[in-house]
Amino acid sequence: MKSWISRPVPELPGTMPALRLYDTVAGGVVTLEANGEQSMYVCGITPYDATHMGHAASYVAFDLLNRAWRDGGQHVSYVQNVTDVDDPLLERAAETGVDWRELAASQIELFQTDMAALNVLAPDHYIGAVESMPLIVPAIEQLLQDGLAYRVTGTPGEPDGDVYYDVEAAVKHAVTVDAWTLGAVSGLPESEMLELFAERGGDPGRAGKRQALDPLLWRVARDGEPRWDGGLLGEGRPGWHIECTVIAQKYLPAPFTVQGGGSDLVFPHHEMGAGHAYSLSGVPLAEHFAHAGMVGLDGEKMSKSKGNLVLVSKLRAAGEEPAAIRLAILAHHYRSDWSWTAEGFAEAKERLERWRAALAVTPAGSAAALIAAMRAALSNDLDAPAALASVDSWAALALAGEEAASAADRSLVSDAVNSLLGVEL
Ligand code: ZN
Repeated sequence: MKSWISRPVPELPGTMPALRLYDTVAGGVVTLEANGEQSMYVCGITPYDATHMGHAASYVAFDLLNRAWRDGGQHVSYVQNVTDVDDPLLERAAETGVDWRELAASQIELFQTDMAALNVLAPDHYIGAVESMPLIVPAIEQLLQDGLAYRVTGTPGEPDGDVYYDVEAAVKHAVTVDAWTLGAVSGLPESEMLELFAERGGDPGRAGKRQALDPLLWRVARDGEPRWDGGLLGEGRPGWHIECTVIAQKYLPAPFTVQGGGSDLVFPHHEMGAGHAYSLSGVPLAEHFAHAGMVGLDGEKMSKSKGNLVLVSKLRAAGEEPAAIRLAILAHHYRSDWSWTAEGFAEAKERLERWRAALAVTPAGSAAALIAAMRAALSNDLDAPAALASVDSWAALALAGEEAASAADRSLVSDAVNSLLGVEL
């Protein structure tokens, strides 16, 4: 599938120090090895609704990592999927009377327009579930043949043949030091896993499963549902975790450097994806797992059912500048849970204006220290609020007007804020 177009990233003199990033598996900050090649997979949207602030914040977070790597002279391979067939999409299509393909296409277009507006660098490969069927089906067939997946017998109302991942068999199969085990990614106790599994699209109570936490790999066709040729699996459509696993394995090295996503993807999505990858290849999926916090509205969880989604496209339509939206996001550390507020957005708009006014009177010799301060902040677990604070200090100095202005420094500061923070002044 086509991705969006990235805006150019200015190159800066000097280089980013070694990057330190919080790794969910390690439970702490780790140093990422700067070996020249980095690879990242960030889970994409299910395109049934417009991009809300939580999505935007998550993609902006990993965009900071992408930019920090590039500034450090690293080549970055970036892949993102789009779950262009899944239950929420089909349900929304049925509710609104729109063809699910049209709904997906329109929401993918809106998402890409939002991402481009927010100056999020595009992935090298933007891959849909539908176009990946020829990769996904053989992977599930292999898991069945290896005894790591099984078919469930139908019950009244459910047909025969849905295929599930056998978590216990997979754990037994993975016996080496780096092997996967249930909890390898999330570190959660099973009671909590069960709760989250039920909340986040799992079906712990499905009759015939060997273990309540076994996730769906292949859903055989039901009347009226879209279906694909599943070879030995029969016609149907895939589960979500196997989709990401197979796409990542196809387009990235194994293991790739960072698996990213919102913190609501830690379990079961990233846990099961890591298991699938290990079961399929005997190699871990990713070296590191990183997660962005959740965004609420005025202290409440943002959700469609509460009707309190803040949509990037709506803000844009109201004439708000995307750079200000991006700055409002960057005012919060990517791992923190935070709330979108009118005050926070107003502050971001003021900040953007202040920075622009300061740029016009950039003091001679001020750029190098600012770039070093921004790099130090971002290399420290992508501490954008600290980077913003360093630009604020520089702006205060510039606006005090006591130093002679310099065109060379002005151009460097503008490039640095653009390159490292993705904000065009
Ligand atoms: Zn994913």
